[in-house]
Amino acid sequence: MLKDNTYLETLYDGYGQSFSVDEMLFEQKTEHQHLVIFNNKMFGRMMALDGVIQTTEKDEFIYHEMMTHVPILTHGNAKRVLIIGGGDGGILREVLKHQNVEHVTMVEIDGAVVDMCKKWLPNHSAGAYEDPRTHLVIDDGINFVSDSKKTPDSRFDVIISDCTDPIGPGEVLFSSDFYAGCKRLLKEGGIFVAQNGVCFMQLDEVETTTRRLGHYMEDCYFYSAAVPTYVGGIMTFAWGSDNPEARNVSLETVTERFNACGIETRYYSPAIHKAAFALPRYVEQAIQKVND
Ligand code: SAM
Repeated sequence: MLKDNTYLETLYDGYGQSFSVDEMLFEQKTEHQHLVIFNNKMFGRMMALDGVIQTTEKDEFIYHEMMTHVPILTHGNAKRVLIIGGGDGGILREVLKHQNVEHVTMVEIDGAVVDMCKKWLPNHSAGAYEDPRTHLVIDDGINFVSDSKKTPDSRFDVIISDCTDPIGPGEVLFSSDFYAGCKRLLKEGGIFVAQNGVCFMQLDEVETTTRRLGHYMEDCYFYSAAVPTYVGGIMTFAWGSDNPEARNVSLETVTERFNACGIETRYYSPAIHKAAFALPRYVEQAIQKVND
Protein backbone atom coordinates (compact mmCIF):
# COMPACT_ATOMS: atom_id res chain seq x y z
CA MET A 1 0.00 0.00 0.00
CA LEU A 2 1.12 3.49 -0.78
CA LYS A 3 1.63 5.93 2.11
CA ASP A 4 3.52 9.24 1.91
CA ASN A 5 5.76 8.25 -1.02
CA THR A 6 6.49 4.92 0.64
CA TYR A 7 5.33 1.52 -0.60
CA LEU A 8 4.54 -0.79 2.32
CA GLU A 9 4.22 -4.49 1.45
CA THR A 10 1.13 -6.04 3.06
CA LEU A 11 1.86 -9.77 2.69
CA TYR A 12 2.45 -10.54 6.36
CA ASP A 13 0.58 -9.32 9.41
CA GLY A 14 2.91 -7.42 11.79
CA TYR A 15 5.99 -7.69 9.57
CA GLY A 16 7.03 -6.38 6.18
CA GLN A 17 9.28 -4.33 3.98
CA SER A 18 8.94 -0.78 2.70
CA PHE A 19 10.37 1.07 -0.29
CA SER A 20 10.65 4.78 -1.04
CA VAL A 21 8.64 5.63 -4.17
CA ASP A 22 11.17 7.92 -5.81
CA GLU A 23 9.05 8.13 -8.96
CA MET A 24 5.60 6.68 -9.51
CA LEU A 25 5.48 5.32 -13.06
CA PHE A 26 2.11 3.54 -13.24
CA GLU A 27 -0.76 2.65 -10.95
CA GLN A 28 -4.09 1.03 -11.90
CA LYS A 29 -6.76 -1.30 -10.57
CA THR A 30 -6.86 -3.78 -13.46
CA GLU A 31 -9.62 -6.30 -14.13
CA HIS A 32 -7.79 -8.69 -11.77
CA GLN A 33 -5.37 -6.83 -9.50
CA HIS A 34 -3.98 -3.54 -8.19
CA LEU A 35 -0.89 -2.97 -10.34
CA VAL A 36 1.81 -0.50 -9.30
CA ILE A 37 5.15 0.20 -11.02
CA PHE A 38 7.54 2.70 -9.45
CA ASN A 39 11.19 3.68 -9.31
CA ASN A 40 13.17 3.05 -6.11
CA LYS A 41 16.74 4.31 -5.62
CA MET A 42 17.95 0.95 -4.21
CA PHE A 43 16.16 -1.61 -6.43
CA GLY A 44 15.46 0.42 -9.58
CA ARG A 45 12.10 0.01 -11.26
CA MET A 46 9.84 -2.44 -9.43
CA MET A 47 6.35 -3.89 -9.75
CA ALA A 48 3.83 -4.84 -7.08
CA LEU A 49 0.45 -6.55 -7.30
CA ASP A 50 -2.22 -6.31 -4.58
CA GLY A 51 0.31 -4.99 -2.04
CA VAL A 52 2.96 -7.64 -2.73
CA ILE A 53 6.33 -7.01 -4.39
CA GLN A 54 6.56 -9.11 -7.59
CA THR A 55 9.84 -8.10 -9.18
CA THR A 56 12.60 -5.48 -9.23
CA GLU A 57 15.28 -4.58 -11.78
CA LYS A 58 18.02 -5.15 -9.17
CA ASP A 59 17.32 -8.74 -8.05
CA GLU A 60 15.02 -10.30 -10.72
CA PHE A 61 17.89 -12.28 -12.27
CA ILE A 62 18.17 -14.56 -9.22
CA TYR A 63 14.56 -15.76 -9.37
CA HIS A 64 14.25 -15.92 -13.15
CA GLU A 65 17.49 -17.86 -13.65
CA MET A 66 16.71 -20.42 -10.91
CA MET A 67 13.12 -20.97 -12.06
CA THR A 68 14.29 -21.55 -15.66
CA HIS A 69 17.75 -23.09 -15.95
CA VAL A 70 17.35 -25.65 -13.15
CA PRO A 71 14.44 -27.53 -14.80
CA ILE A 72 15.62 -27.01 -18.41
CA LEU A 73 19.22 -28.13 -17.81
CA THR A 74 18.00 -31.05 -15.68
CA HIS A 75 15.71 -32.17 -18.50
CA GLY A 76 18.50 -31.95 -21.06
CA ASN A 77 16.33 -31.89 -24.19
CA ALA A 78 13.46 -29.49 -23.52
CA LYS A 79 11.78 -28.35 -26.75
CA ARG A 80 8.30 -27.28 -25.57
CA VAL A 81 7.91 -25.08 -22.46
CA LEU A 82 4.72 -23.83 -20.78
CA ILE A 83 4.85 -20.73 -18.55
CA ILE A 84 1.90 -19.96 -16.28
CA GLY A 85 1.81 -16.33 -15.12
CA GLY A 86 5.15 -14.60 -15.61
CA GLY A 87 3.60 -11.34 -16.91
CA ASP A 88 6.80 -9.31 -16.31
CA GLY A 89 8.48 -11.39 -19.04
CA GLY A 90 11.60 -12.38 -17.06
CA ILE A 91 10.99 -16.13 -17.21
CA LEU A 92 10.17 -15.95 -20.93
CA ARG A 93 13.47 -14.10 -21.52
CA GLU A 94 15.50 -16.80 -19.75
CA VAL A 95 13.66 -19.73 -21.40
CA LEU A 96 14.27 -18.33 -24.87
CA LYS A 97 18.04 -18.18 -24.18
CA HIS A 98 17.91 -21.97 -24.73
CA GLN A 99 18.28 -22.36 -28.49
CA ASN A 100 17.11 -25.98 -28.16
CA VAL A 101 13.66 -24.73 -27.08
CA GLU A 102 11.37 -24.60 -30.13
CA HIS A 103 8.03 -23.50 -28.63
CA VAL A 104 6.95 -21.50 -25.56
CA THR A 105 3.33 -20.99 -24.55
CA MET A 106 2.82 -18.36 -21.83
CA VAL A 107 -0.59 -18.13 -20.14
CA GLU A 108 -0.99 -14.89 -18.18
CA ILE A 109 -4.31 -13.82 -16.66
CA ASP A 110 -3.71 -10.06 -16.77
CA GLY A 111 -2.90 -8.40 -20.11
CA ALA A 112 -2.27 -5.08 -18.33
CA VAL A 113 0.69 -6.61 -16.47
CA VAL A 114 2.24 -7.72 -19.78
CA ASP A 115 1.65 -4.35 -21.48
CA MET A 116 2.83 -2.18 -18.58
CA CYS A 117 5.90 -4.31 -17.90
CA LYS A 118 6.84 -4.15 -21.60
CA LYS A 119 6.60 -0.35 -21.29
CA TRP A 120 8.13 0.32 -17.85
CA LEU A 121 10.31 -2.79 -17.28
CA PRO A 122 11.52 -3.46 -20.87
CA ASN A 123 14.74 -5.19 -19.74
CA HIS A 124 12.73 -7.95 -18.11
CA SER A 125 11.36 -9.32 -21.36
CA ALA A 126 14.15 -7.84 -23.50
CA GLY A 127 12.23 -8.48 -26.75
CA ALA A 128 11.13 -12.02 -25.79
CA TYR A 129 7.50 -11.32 -26.73
CA GLU A 130 8.63 -10.68 -30.32
CA ASP A 131 10.44 -14.03 -30.56
CA PRO A 132 8.64 -16.30 -33.10
CA ARG A 133 8.78 -19.16 -30.58
CA THR A 134 6.57 -17.21 -28.15
CA HIS A 135 2.82 -17.93 -27.99
CA LEU A 136 1.11 -15.59 -25.49
CA VAL A 137 -2.37 -16.52 -24.16
CA ILE A 138 -4.24 -14.08 -21.91
CA ASP A 139 -6.31 -16.40 -19.74
CA ASP A 140 -6.51 -17.95 -16.31
CA GLY A 141 -3.91 -20.71 -16.03
CA ILE A 142 -6.45 -23.13 -14.58
CA ASN A 143 -8.58 -22.81 -17.73
CA PHE A 144 -5.59 -23.53 -19.98
CA VAL A 145 -4.40 -26.63 -18.11
CA SER A 146 -7.97 -27.92 -17.68
CA ASP A 147 -9.19 -27.33 -21.24
CA SER A 148 -6.15 -28.12 -23.36
CA LYS A 149 -6.60 -31.19 -25.54
CA LYS A 150 -4.00 -33.77 -24.46
CA THR A 151 -2.42 -34.65 -27.80
CA PRO A 152 1.27 -35.58 -27.98
CA ASP A 153 2.28 -32.32 -29.60
CA SER A 154 0.18 -30.22 -27.19
CA ARG A 155 2.14 -31.43 -24.20
CA PHE A 156 5.25 -29.90 -22.68
CA ASP A 157 8.72 -30.97 -21.52
CA VAL A 158 8.89 -28.28 -18.83
CA ILE A 159 6.11 -26.32 -17.07
CA ILE A 160 7.08 -23.22 -15.06
CA SER A 161 4.43 -21.63 -12.80
CA ASP A 162 5.61 -18.07 -12.13
CA CYS A 163 2.53 -17.07 -10.19
CA THR A 164 1.58 -14.65 -7.41
CA ASP A 165 1.07 -15.83 -3.84
CA PRO A 166 -1.93 -18.14 -3.14
CA ILE A 167 -4.25 -15.16 -2.62
CA GLY A 168 -6.62 -13.59 -5.17
CA PRO A 169 -6.18 -14.79 -8.80
CA GLY A 170 -3.05 -16.79 -7.88
CA GLU A 171 -4.80 -19.03 -5.32
CA VAL A 172 -6.11 -21.50 -7.90
CA LEU A 173 -2.53 -22.11 -9.11
CA PHE A 174 -1.81 -23.90 -5.84
CA SER A 175 -4.86 -26.18 -6.16
CA SER A 176 -5.06 -29.92 -6.79
CA ASP A 177 -7.00 -29.29 -10.02
CA PHE A 178 -4.16 -27.12 -11.33
CA TYR A 179 -1.51 -29.74 -10.51
CA ALA A 180 -3.68 -32.45 -12.07
CA GLY A 181 -3.95 -30.35 -15.24
CA CYS A 182 -0.20 -29.74 -15.34
CA LYS A 183 0.52 -33.45 -14.86
CA ARG A 184 -1.80 -34.17 -17.80
CA LEU A 185 0.11 -31.69 -20.00
CA LEU A 186 3.58 -32.97 -19.08
CA LYS A 187 5.32 -35.27 -21.49
CA GLU A 188 6.97 -38.41 -20.12
CA GLY A 189 10.03 -37.38 -18.09
CA GLY A 190 8.67 -33.83 -18.00
CA ILE A 191 9.43 -31.41 -15.15
CA PHE A 192 7.12 -28.99 -13.31
CA VAL A 193 8.42 -26.11 -11.16
CA ALA A 194 6.57 -23.33 -9.35
CA GLN A 195 7.29 -20.44 -7.02
CA ASN A 196 6.31 -21.75 -3.59
CA GLY A 197 6.88 -18.92 -1.16
CA VAL A 198 9.44 -18.00 1.45
CA CYS A 199 9.59 -21.11 3.64
CA PHE A 200 10.42 -19.37 6.96
CA MET A 201 7.30 -17.25 6.59
CA GLN A 202 5.09 -19.57 4.49
CA LEU A 203 5.99 -23.11 5.60
CA ASP A 204 2.32 -24.11 5.24
CA GLU A 205 2.76 -23.68 1.49
CA VAL A 206 5.50 -26.34 1.53
CA GLU A 207 3.17 -28.73 3.40
CA THR A 208 0.15 -28.04 1.18
CA THR A 209 2.14 -28.38 -2.04
CA THR A 210 3.79 -31.59 -0.82
CA ARG A 211 0.32 -33.00 -0.21
CA ARG A 212 -1.36 -31.74 -3.39
CA LEU A 213 1.44 -31.86 -5.98
CA GLY A 214 2.82 -35.03 -4.38
CA HIS A 215 -0.48 -36.73 -5.18
CA TYR A 216 0.12 -36.39 -8.93
CA MET A 217 3.91 -36.50 -9.27
CA GLU A 218 6.14 -39.53 -8.67
CA ASP A 219 8.71 -37.12 -7.25
CA CYS A 220 7.70 -33.93 -5.39
CA TYR A 221 10.41 -31.86 -3.73
CA PHE A 222 11.74 -28.32 -3.48
CA TYR A 223 14.85 -26.26 -4.18
CA SER A 224 15.64 -22.75 -3.04
CA ALA A 225 17.37 -19.41 -3.50
CA ALA A 226 17.42 -16.17 -1.53
CA VAL A 227 15.79 -13.29 -3.42
CA PRO A 228 16.35 -10.03 -1.46
CA THR A 229 12.89 -8.51 -2.11
CA TYR A 230 11.02 -11.72 -1.28
CA VAL A 231 11.54 -10.87 2.33
CA GLY A 232 12.02 -13.37 5.14
CA GLY A 233 14.78 -15.67 3.94
CA ILE A 234 15.11 -18.24 1.17
CA MET A 235 12.34 -18.73 -1.40
CA THR A 236 11.30 -22.29 -2.21
CA PHE A 237 10.59 -23.56 -5.69
CA ALA A 238 8.31 -26.59 -5.95
CA TRP A 239 9.61 -29.48 -8.09
CA GLY A 240 7.48 -32.23 -9.61
CA SER A 241 8.33 -35.00 -12.07
CA ASP A 242 7.26 -38.54 -12.83
CA ASN A 243 10.98 -39.36 -13.13
CA PRO A 244 12.29 -39.63 -9.54
CA GLU A 245 15.88 -39.76 -10.82
CA ALA A 246 15.68 -36.47 -12.72
CA ARG A 247 16.76 -34.15 -9.89
CA ASN A 248 19.71 -36.40 -9.04
CA VAL A 249 21.36 -35.43 -12.34
CA SER A 250 25.12 -35.25 -11.75
CA LEU A 251 27.12 -32.02 -11.46
CA GLU A 252 29.22 -33.21 -14.42
CA THR A 253 26.18 -33.63 -16.65
CA VAL A 254 24.71 -30.25 -15.64
CA THR A 255 28.10 -28.60 -16.25
CA GLU A 256 28.38 -30.19 -19.69
CA ARG A 257 24.89 -29.02 -20.64
CA PHE A 258 25.47 -25.51 -19.22
CA ASN A 259 28.72 -25.10 -21.14
CA ALA A 260 27.13 -26.50 -24.31
CA CYS A 261 24.16 -24.09 -24.26
CA GLY A 262 26.52 -21.09 -23.90
CA ILE A 263 24.12 -19.07 -21.75
CA GLU A 264 25.42 -16.08 -19.73
CA THR A 265 24.09 -16.02 -16.13
CA ARG A 266 24.64 -13.85 -13.04
CA TYR A 267 23.32 -16.18 -10.31
CA TYR A 268 22.82 -19.63 -11.79
CA SER A 269 25.78 -22.04 -12.00
CA PRO A 270 25.89 -25.86 -12.07
CA ALA A 271 27.19 -25.86 -8.48
CA ILE A 272 24.40 -23.54 -7.31
CA HIS A 273 21.94 -25.80 -9.17
CA LYS A 274 23.00 -28.87 -7.21
CA ALA A 275 23.31 -27.03 -3.89
CA ALA A 276 19.83 -25.54 -4.24
CA PHE A 277 18.22 -28.92 -3.47
CA ALA A 278 19.88 -29.05 -0.05
CA LEU A 279 17.05 -27.81 2.16
CA PRO A 280 17.09 -26.61 5.78
CA ARG A 281 16.19 -29.34 8.28
CA TYR A 282 12.88 -27.68 9.30
CA VAL A 283 11.75 -27.74 5.65
CA GLU A 284 12.78 -31.40 5.24
CA GLN A 285 10.81 -32.18 8.42
CA ALA A 286 7.72 -30.37 7.08
CA ILE A 287 7.90 -32.47 3.89
CA GLN A 288 8.50 -35.67 5.88
CA LYS A 289 5.55 -34.92 8.15
CA VAL A 290 3.22 -34.88 5.13
CA ASN A 291 4.75 -37.97 3.55
CA ASP A 292 4.69 -40.05 6.76
N1 SAM B 1 7.88 -13.74 -9.03
C1 SAM B 1 6.68 -13.28 -8.52
C2 SAM B 1 6.43 -13.94 -7.20
O1 SAM B 1 7.11 -14.90 -6.88
O2 SAM B 1 5.62 -13.47 -6.45
C3 SAM B 1 5.61 -13.55 -9.52
C4 SAM B 1 5.77 -12.65 -10.61
S1 SAM B 1 4.67 -12.79 -11.94
C5 SAM B 1 4.50 -11.13 -12.30
C6 SAM B 1 3.11 -13.28 -11.33
C7 SAM B 1 2.06 -13.26 -12.44
O3 SAM B 1 1.06 -14.26 -12.19
C8 SAM B 1 1.30 -11.93 -12.53
O4 SAM B 1 1.58 -11.34 -13.78
C9 SAM B 1 -0.17 -12.32 -12.39
O5 SAM B 1 -1.04 -11.56 -13.19
C10 SAM B 1 -0.13 -13.78 -12.82
N2 SAM B 1 -1.25 -14.59 -12.37
C11 SAM B 1 -1.86 -14.56 -11.15
N3 SAM B 1 -2.87 -15.46 -11.11
C12 SAM B 1 -2.90 -16.07 -12.34
C13 SAM B 1 -3.72 -17.09 -12.92
N4 SAM B 1 -4.71 -17.66 -12.21
N5 SAM B 1 -3.45 -17.49 -14.18
C14 SAM B 1 -2.43 -16.92 -14.89
N6 SAM B 1 -1.62 -15.93 -14.41
C15 SAM B 1 -1.86 -15.52 -13.14
